Amino acid sequence: MEPSKEEVKARTDRFAQALRDSGTRLTHQRVVIFQEVAKTGEHPDADTVFRRVRKRMPSISLDTVYRTLWMLNDMGLISTLGPQRGRVRFDGNASPHHHFVCTDCGFVGDFYYEEFDGLEVPAEVDRMGDVATTHVQFRGLCSRCWPRDGKGRMSQGNEGRKPHE
Ligand SMILES: [Zn+2]
Ligand SMILES: [Zn+2]
Repeated sequence: MEPSKEEVKARTDRFAQALRDSGTRLTHQRVVIFQEVAKTGEHPDADTVFRRVRKRMPSISLDTVYRTLWMLNDMGLISTLGPQRGRVRFDGNASPHHHFVCTDCGFVGDFYYEEFDGLEVPAEVDRMGDVATTHVQFRGLCSRCWPRDGKGRMSQGNEGRKPHE
């Protein structure tokens, strides 16, 4: 689930280039914050990014982390996933991809599936507004949360696998 070293490097290069192109200063702080999102497949929320960045930069404030994350979001370098458990999550993967979301623990996994990349926008949605991006989200219980009774997954088959919402 974690991005490869090469992928993290590609993301960081893209980030550095985008900052240069837009005349935004490439500060150490911004690099560290971006990397905390880019190097993980976890889609961390701002608090989590803050806790990790603070280990490397003890004087950094949560406010700075917030502002930087939203700046990176506005630049299209990271994106957000709708509030989950009340917290916006940040996504460091800028390639077209889709998500599996665990409705119990909040786990978010990236997956790639070309057939979902060029989704046709239904006319009804077009009337609601201008669609900038589309992505598919599967929701359910992740393999760690399911099944919860300790019986093996194989013993139950997949029929019982339903999102519990
Ligand atoms: Zn889970
Ligand atoms: Zn993602």
